[in-house]
Amino acid sequence: MAPETLVLPMKGSSPLMSTAYLPTTNSDSEHILLRGATLIDGNGGDPLTDSEIEVEDGRIVYAGAQRTQGAASAGERPRIIDLQGKTIMPGFIDSHVHFGLSIENQMANLARFASERIVRSAVNARNTLMAGVTTARDLGGTDRGVRDSITQSLILGPRIHLAITPLSPTGGHTDFTMPNGMSTMPEMPINPIIDTDDDVRRTIRTLVRSGADVIKVCTTGGVSSPSDTPDDIGVPEEHVRLIVEETAKRAGQPVAAHAQGAEGIKAAIRGGVRSVEHGYGIDDEGIDLMLEHGTFLVPTLSSALRVPDPKNVPGYLYEKKVKWSAIARERVAVAMSAGVKVALGTDAGVCPHGLNLREEMHAVELGLTPMQAIVAGTKNAAELLRLSADVGTLEEGKLADLVVVDFDPLADITQLAEPDNVKAVVQGGSLVKDSAGWFNAAIAASALG
Ligand SMILES: [Zn+2]
Repeated sequence: MAPETLVLPMKGSSPLMSTAYLPTTNSDSEHILLRGATLIDGNGGDPLTDSEIEVEDGRIVYAGAQRTQGAASAGERPRIIDLQGKTIMPGFIDSHVHFGLSIENQMANLARFASERIVRSAVNARNTLMAGVTTARDLGGTDRGVRDSITQSLILGPRIHLAITPLSPTGGHTDFTMPNGMSTMPEMPINPIIDTDDDVRRTIRTLVRSGADVIKVCTTGGVSSPSDTPDDIGVPEEHVRLIVEETAKRAGQPVAAHAQGAEGIKAAIRGGVRSVEHGYGIDDEGIDLMLEHGTFLVPTLSSALRVPDPKNVPGYLYEKKVKWSAIARERVAVAMSAGVKVALGTDAGVCPHGLNLREEMHAVELGLTPMQAIVAGTKNAAELLRLSADVGTLEEGKLADLVVVDFDPLADITQLAEPDNVKAVVQGGSLVKDSAGWFNAAIAASALG
């Protein structure tokens, strides 16, 4: 059993159903005023003590210093939630997850019924939300059904951007065919193999038709795949460029590259990707290229730094993992200190789901300040996903995606890593987690008054 953290459902809600619209108890109003907390707004400036955030119809209408009583927007009076002694941050964004994957061995995955995989995807999405992640980018293995079920509030989860199927050439990182021709993966809805220009165009058009928000290519091999290595070149630079051209004709879907070895990383950047995923072996030339092109790095440290128990994984995997963890630890730190734009992502599915804010701790371990790590997991990630107009910072006009804790994450970022320490989560103005009862206590008290 994967070490999943199952959080108790809120009163009146089943583990998977979203019934917890704000407030959860006794009113149909969603007009609230959060008073007294220290505000870390995601922009990277000094925290604001004794703040006030006003939320109406799911959006922030005011965020800043406390105003005098009655200064809240005209109309019906908002419900006041006293959050003195707490810290409010933007809902976090995990730029790299796989809700459809689990860290168990491949045979256990293969033996699952399709229905069970979907249910597990829903549980993974819910646990991710409960960890404080209100938006996520799924870079492979999840289709629109899961995304749309969350959007329609059928299940709880982060709002999702989808890559659907990651792409590589024959024999590359997403080709799960064994030497004898048998596949080791459940069938994918879209063929992930692109070898020719025509394959590229047809596949990109199919992905766009299927609702892809982002295109994921593998410009190198990987650590977990048996028949290639991070130094192998996958999708070549000219095909990355062709994909960028193709998506530019549509919504301009950004291209994310799985890229671990130095040469494949540079091919991806030169081809025009918006983000390098992993980037473990980036060299100095690659760092300069990223700075020049404004490319984001999503270092997936939760996976990179996690060396599995050698008893549980094949020998090749353990050896590759030890080697590439050490490389990542060194080179990602160099890239960070050079000022490359970092957006946090975990690769959950390759590491456990629902422990996403461990990534904050790892980013600090490799040299970011706690504030830089928070910005990387909020504002920067929103920019990477092209969602800055709605999420990533706590400012007037943005969606009310909030995480509330009762400690100072700037003093000790490691506390964020434990999902039980994330006591309250609000997503688009809906209270989706209130494990300490901070919101519900205030709602009950104001009902009595
Ligand atoms: Zn991944």
